[in-house]
Amino acid sequence: MEKKVLVIGEIRDGALRNVSFEAVSAAKTIADGGEVVAALFGDVICEQSIEMIHNGADRVVKVEHADLKSYTTDAYQQAILQVLDIEKPEAVVMGHTAIGKDVSPRLAVKLNAGLVSDVVAIENVDGEPVFTRPIYSGKAYEKKQVEEGVVLATIRPNNILVLETDSSRIGEIRSVQVEIKNLRTVIKEVVRKSTGKVDLSEAKIIVSGGRGVKSIEGFKALEELAEALGAAVGASRGACDAGYCDYSLQIGQTGKVVTPDLYFAIGISGAIQHLAGMSNSKVIVAINKDPEAPIFDVADYGIVGDLFEVLPLLIKEMKSVAVG
Ligand code: FAD
Repeated sequence: MEKKVLVIGEIRDGALRNVSFEAVSAAKTIADGGEVVAALFGDVICEQSIEMIHNGADRVVKVEHADLKSYTTDAYQQAILQVLDIEKPEAVVMGHTAIGKDVSPRLAVKLNAGLVSDVVAIENVDGEPVFTRPIYSGKAYEKKQVEEGVVLATIRPNNILVLETDSSRIGEIRSVQVEIKNLRTVIKEVVRKSTGKVDLSEAKIIVSGGRGVKSIEGFKALEELAEALGAAVGASRGACDAGYCDYSLQIGQTGKVVTPDLYFAIGISGAIQHLAGMSNSKVIVAINKDPEAPIFDVADYGIVGDLFEVLPLLIKEMKSVAVG
């Protein structure tokens, strides 16, 4: 039987998050030649539908409702469940984002489905998906399969390659009406705390600072380097606790989990809880004055030195490369 896999896309500030395209790519592997349907939720959905088709979805179901303007658990759960009831897919894929992490366990309970969360790779073994996910804060990986019922998976951003965009692809885009009622929460206003221009969880390059940066002013230098690189700024909990930056920048076990192509750890010791959030980065560059700092155990490139001497040189060099 041909499989149908539903992808729940994520729209933020009117644009699809990149993880939505990664979820389409994951869904293709799971569908094993079957159909990939993208479901989009929001108050107004325009070009995002066709973008999903250009990036691999076979068709799109869009759900527009005033109560879906901002994410709330109640409204999204109700809307998604109604779409699932219409589509009846064999599998559902979404990003392992704040939204995915919040709604997926609720969907799993309602559907009595097996949920595999934080997936970093998927392979097709005899037509069935086998999911790879990190365990023990990224120190080991396990492979998981759902043996019966609907398969639910959340995928970690920046791990699954997106398909090549093909703007000649066509597919049906259908509007579906849903009923949303008994909301317990209403979003009145969204106040952004993060100052970064690049979204931390999807950034390709991250410049992260720790307690070694020593002050709010020290953190500004990191922002300068990030700007030159088109990177997002992150932080250790040490830096957040010290008040050098906002907690929304914290990376680690109790912060965000990131997998950029390039991660700068500047004045960060490399505590196990920090490594849990960044050790899967593709290339890690550490700057620390202590040659014994554990961050060097995971770093691909290490600079042993005073960050206040190294950082200005790095910023100068990066700016000249960016200009040249
Ligand atoms: P420090 O450990 O103080 O390291 C500062 C580093 O800067 C040192 O290595 C030092 O050599 C270097 N340095 C100082 N001056 C300079 C200089 N001039 N030039 C170059 N290098 C310099 N931490 C997280 O990051 N994320 C989490 O999510 C997280 N969750 C946690 C959850 C729990 C339950 C617990 C118990 C802890 C958690 N922590 C987390 C805290 C973690 O254990 C560490 O305390 C924290 O990561 C340390 O931050 P840091 O590396 O910035 O500071």
